[in-house]
Amino acid sequence: MTSTAKAAPKAVPLDQVDIAGGLWQDRQLVNREKTIPAIYDQLQKTGRLDAWRMDPNRERPKKRTVITMFFDSDTAKWLEAVGYSLQTHPDSALEKQTDDLIDWIEKAQQADGYLNTYFGNLEPENKWRNVRDYHEMYNAGHLIEGAVAYHQATGKRPILDTLTRFADHIEANFGPREGQKRGYPGHPELELALVKLYRDGGDEKYLKLAQYFVNERGQQPHYFDLESIAREEDPTDFWAQTYKYCQAHKPVREQTEATGHSVRACYLYAGIADVALETGDAELVAVSRRLWNDLTSHQLYITGGLGPAHSNEGFTFAYDLPNETAYAETCAAIALAFWAQRMFHLDPHGRYIDVMERALYNNVLSGVSYEGDHFFYANPLTSYPYVNPFEHFSGITSNKHYRREEWFFCPCCPPNVARIVASIGSYFYSTTADRVYVHLYNQNTASLNLGGTTVTLAQQTHYPWEDTIRLTVGVAQPTAFELALRIPGWCHNYTLAVNDTQVSIIPETGYVVIARQWTDGDSVTLTLAMPVERMVPHPDIRHDAGQIALQRGPIVYCLEEVDNGARLANVALPQDAALETRFDASLFGGVSVIHAEGVRIESMAWTGDIYLPHSAVNYQRSPAPITAIPYFLWANRAPGEMRVWIREA
Ligand SMILES: [Zn+2]
Repeated sequence: MTSTAKAAPKAVPLDQVDIAGGLWQDRQLVNREKTIPAIYDQLQKTGRLDAWRMDPNRERPKKRTVITMFFDSDTAKWLEAVGYSLQTHPDSALEKQTDDLIDWIEKAQQADGYLNTYFGNLEPENKWRNVRDYHEMYNAGHLIEGAVAYHQATGKRPILDTLTRFADHIEANFGPREGQKRGYPGHPELELALVKLYRDGGDEKYLKLAQYFVNERGQQPHYFDLESIAREEDPTDFWAQTYKYCQAHKPVREQTEATGHSVRACYLYAGIADVALETGDAELVAVSRRLWNDLTSHQLYITGGLGPAHSNEGFTFAYDLPNETAYAETCAAIALAFWAQRMFHLDPHGRYIDVMERALYNNVLSGVSYEGDHFFYANPLTSYPYVNPFEHFSGITSNKHYRREEWFFCPCCPPNVARIVASIGSYFYSTTADRVYVHLYNQNTASLNLGGTTVTLAQQTHYPWEDTIRLTVGVAQPTAFELALRIPGWCHNYTLAVNDTQVSIIPETGYVVIARQWTDGDSVTLTLAMPVERMVPHPDIRHDAGQIALQRGPIVYCLEEVDNGARLANVALPQDAALETRFDASLFGGVSVIHAEGVRIESMAWTGDIYLPHSAVNYQRSPAPITAIPYFLWANRAPGEMRVWIREA
């Protein structure tokens, strides 16, 4: 499968990027020290580790009701997070702990390569009988991703060999050949995992299988119908009612809108982009762009969240972006970041990275507590004490405020946050033979391979709290290449200096490209002006009408009750109020907060009536100093209300 895209930029691997300070170093430290161990403890407590040790010949586990068909994916994402963490921070105790687990995973594999704790042990009669719902392929994808990450970290082959055998098993059973099932994953994820396996030195057949899954999806006769009939079920009784739920309502090439379950959607779209990138399939590139444009221009929260509805954990319709009931699953924002990076490689433009950055710094980071051991599944943009729309899902039984939880019945989000935080360095740069794209800014040193020449690039910055980034180039001898620095979409004013001499370069596709012969020690200083912006919603987002959101650089802010009192809906920001940024070193290790003179508009003389004529109510406007903190840090202090969108007065 030759590619027109051979010259496409590629991500700089994780182990080439040493994050040595700033926000992402802090988050990675917490991830290593708190999140990864906390998830392991939960995997153990909830029987997920024991599930690998079941012996179906000896025991039918008594706790069948507490074992679910997505168990394996939780372990798999933990394994993947460990694989990434070990690539940058070797840890022999963690490696030993993981090797022990891997030993059990290998032993759980069946002779024909099949690997699944639930169907392998509890319902062997149902293996591959319902790929629409049963998550076998989803689990397989996550296990493959985990195996590739762990192999890359340690060079150890056993887990990769195990998952390669499983991939071979799937490849033998599914596909267009005589006697094969023409199925594809009901919950996409395996597609992108197979491309990873292919890129990790695997056989081209894994890429072809990913391509098959993409092309077969939604074709008639519909495999999910055929499979239902084979189970003697009526296909129209599908519990989710429509194949839009799993993006199988029509062939991928005919799809025009982001639809259905948002995590499934973005994993699929990432897989489509991967197949397009590897095969140079222009039609799939066009499909990817079309779906991207639909999602990001109609169905995206300002926090980078997506999928507003609880009912389908997914999309509804254009501009339907409620705040209080926003589902905006942590996994969906993570999946969007995966897709965004792939879109950039397909179509090198900063607009994709703008969305990736929005998701990472807001909806993704809000998914984990500052201390690293509590998690959000849903990430609403408004929170009030009286309603918790997610209660039955996340099992929250505590006070009346929505808070992060230690774990969930379906704990897809916690290990997903762990893996993206551990691998964040791999989102910083992309290279071609003669160009370095710098996507994200944070203190780090990267070692880059440009057409066989090693170039180091060191970033010194306090981004996202400060606006200046200083990059220093390290080369063994003078080397010509292009340094492409992203000018974020939110930035309307920047300055650029090379060796302290100001230069004027107009951005191309979101990047300023500095082409020169670089000498060791050359420096570039980029200043991205980041005034506080009052962001306004599209006029069709009815939920936000008359309100603004505060954003500074990539960070979206929110008001919390602990700083601003209760009834935040009654707090308004006058249009002429000055917005002052202060760095608060005492808050969450040091963050920029925003202060303003707001106003509270309310009547304290309300009686028991629910509605009254205006004339009967003595509305008061009283001064209300406002403090806004980064959205991703909300719900880390005293429980209370929260709002991203604030009334304008
Ligand atoms: Zn999730």
